[in-house]
Amino acid sequence: MTTEEGIVVRTYDFRETSLIIDLITPISGKKRILAKGARDPVRGYTGIFLPTNNVIVNYYSGKNISLLSHAELRDFFPLLRGDFLRYAFALSFLELVYILLAPLERNFYSFSLQTIRFLDEQKRLDYLLLSSFVWFKLLNFSGFYPYLEGCLCCGKESKIFFYSVDKGGLICEECRKKINQPHLMVIDSETLGGLRGMKKLDFSLLSKWKINLMSKFKIKEIMKAHLLYRIEKKPPSLQFWEAVENLLL
Ligand SMILES: [Zn+2]
Repeated sequence: MTTEEGIVVRTYDFRETSLIIDLITPISGKKRILAKGARDPVRGYTGIFLPTNNVIVNYYSGKNISLLSHAELRDFFPLLRGDFLRYAFALSFLELVYILLAPLERNFYSFSLQTIRFLDEQKRLDYLLLSSFVWFKLLNFSGFYPYLEGCLCCGKESKIFFYSVDKGGLICEECRKKINQPHLMVIDSETLGGLRGMKKLDFSLLSKWKINLMSKFKIKEIMKAHLLYRIEKKPPSLQFWEAVENLLL
């Protein structure tokens, strides 16, 4: 039997009273577990396996799916759960982690838990910055971080760059003409500074990050485009989050 902690990403009802649970865990990465009788109102685990909850599970590993033996709630996040925006953001974030997660990349788990805690503890949230930051981190962990050191064709530094999602980073004016991509987004110096500053950013610095609104939007659009290029298909929870976010603007 294996004991692991995990974060609940989502659950599916299965047969009369069972539940299938998708978890993000520090050791196994993505973990799908069948919990027999979990929806039984008396003996079940109905309150434990709610998305975003931090749990401890004991399970038997099976060929296709593991079988739950016992579960405990380690942490649930009341502020996050009670706030529609925070919860919608958290669901889309966890689903992205689940899609991008590489089994040997341990940073995914601790970063996921940090993000959920941040969403639960922070009084005010700037979703534009927060989404750029967490997407940037996820791209980094999965080895698809954008190239921001200089032009990715000629290596030169420039005051104005363009951003190519399919090339994965910055391109200078001259190289843009050569590769014939006329519709690339212009990256001005403030946006460039913001993009480069993201590398050193962590949750404690997020609220202190000063950047103008236009650059904030640009950085978010770049990170989103990069992310979508990587995952190919937009997950439903991200679509939902975007719809919610549009109501805010
Ligand atoms: Zn160049």
